[in-house]
Amino acid sequence: MSAPTVVIAGAGQAGSQTAASLREMGFEGRVVLVGDEPHPPYQRPPLSKGHLTGAAARDNLWLHSPTFYEHHDIELLLSEQVSRIDRANTRVELAGGAILDYDHLVLAVGAHNRTLPIPGAELDGVVGLRNLVEADDIRDRLARARHLVVVGGGFIGLEVAATAVRLGLDVVVVEIADQLMARVLSRHMASFMLDAHRARGLRVELGTSVAALTGTAGRVSAVTTTDGREFPADMVLVGVGAVPNTQLAEDAGLRVDNGIVVDEYLATQDDRISAVGDCTSCPNRFADGHRVRLESVHNATAQPRFLASRLVGRPEPYDSVPWFWSDQADLKLQIAGLSGTQSSQVVLRGDPDSGRFSVFCFHDGVLRSVESLNRPGDHMAARKLLTIGDCLTPEQAGDTDFDLRAHVAAHSANDLAVVDLGARTRS
Ligand code: FAD
Repeated sequence: MSAPTVVIAGAGQAGSQTAASLREMGFEGRVVLVGDEPHPPYQRPPLSKGHLTGAAARDNLWLHSPTFYEHHDIELLLSEQVSRIDRANTRVELAGGAILDYDHLVLAVGAHNRTLPIPGAELDGVVGLRNLVEADDIRDRLARARHLVVVGGGFIGLEVAATAVRLGLDVVVVEIADQLMARVLSRHMASFMLDAHRARGLRVELGTSVAALTGTAGRVSAVTTTDGREFPADMVLVGVGAVPNTQLAEDAGLRVDNGIVVDEYLATQDDRISAVGDCTSCPNRFADGHRVRLESVHNATAQPRFLASRLVGRPEPYDSVPWFWSDQADLKLQIAGLSGTQSSQVVLRGDPDSGRFSVFCFHDGVLRSVESLNRPGDHMAARKLLTIGDCLTPEQAGDTDFDLRAHVAAHSANDLAVVDLGARTRS
């Protein structure tokens, strides 16, 4: 019998990690990594941060060295799109006409930016940020622009806005919700971030949306908000969230519900097809076992490791504390866990006035998430505490004399037992 073939659709963070993890774990079959972008797999986080100022060298963007793929016998097909899945014959068609047979297919196709369904959205100067080509374009435009309007006060919008303020642009963020980063952040941290951004020169307009973009000679020149105000703009960044790339899966009859639906082993309902990364809706212990779709580097690297482990015969249900970071000017935000928006009790650790503090979010007395600003030690401890489970009281969290690291060390012996229990309760 010939060695099995794993075809991976999508050569981003999750696709390339799947290929690398398969090799690390001793998979000896054929690995084909198909990506529709012209570049080898690269990191997206710097695109909204150092890449825009030139602080992040282009060569540091690549996830692996140029020789990595050949060295590990990973067939990397770039500028090639998987256009159809033929489940009956276990093969995929590429847009260029080639056909690839698979024993296992991994969908790591990521997400695309939501667009604005309003007049003027097609004007020159209205941009979104997801890939390297767009990041290069935005960097060039920032060098020439004077007035930037960012639509959406989420992570990517605020990172670009903070960079643009540093570059000397006049920047306005328009956010429909009544707080920044409303989908993920507690009110406490969001309110601090709002003040901090304003103090650094960013104008933020909450509770309003964009009604229209107007232009001169095809180029954007102003943004009109739903409450009737007008802001000059020679550049508009639309950062209103992402939509998972599910069309390929949907066309193949796979279940889709805000992402490609997988079980805790990252398997779709077709046992020959799995999905990982931004495109995936997966049950998560930290969301009470409900399915969630996460957009983070951690998720896009952890899920492939669990999947590769299953594909080499060591199945383990996906179980990893979600975490995320966002650098907005000198504000280094790190989040561990989920549901900062749904907690019944929040506890501050550290003094917000110092610019270094954490928000510990509890629900029914149980720690659910920790948001840390410029306090990496709290973040690292939080990831371990959340892995261990219910072992920190709100009083301990708020007491800066209480040694979190020592507390983690004392409880670590129970770590595995608790994780196993979490896995059992889901089945
Ligand atoms: P992607 O990295 O998006 O890769 C999917 C790839 O599949 C893409 O190259 C896509 O073009 C390709 N593709 C799609 N369809 C097909 C097809 N049919 N055939 C072939 N190829 C296909 N996360 C953090 O944790 N911290 C951060 O600070 C942070 N900053 C970010 C900044 C930006 C600007 C962006 C865009 C994201 C950021 N993220 C951050 C999120 C993180 O980068 C993503 O969660 C991660 O890249 C997801 O990996 P993925 O492989 O699932 O998707």
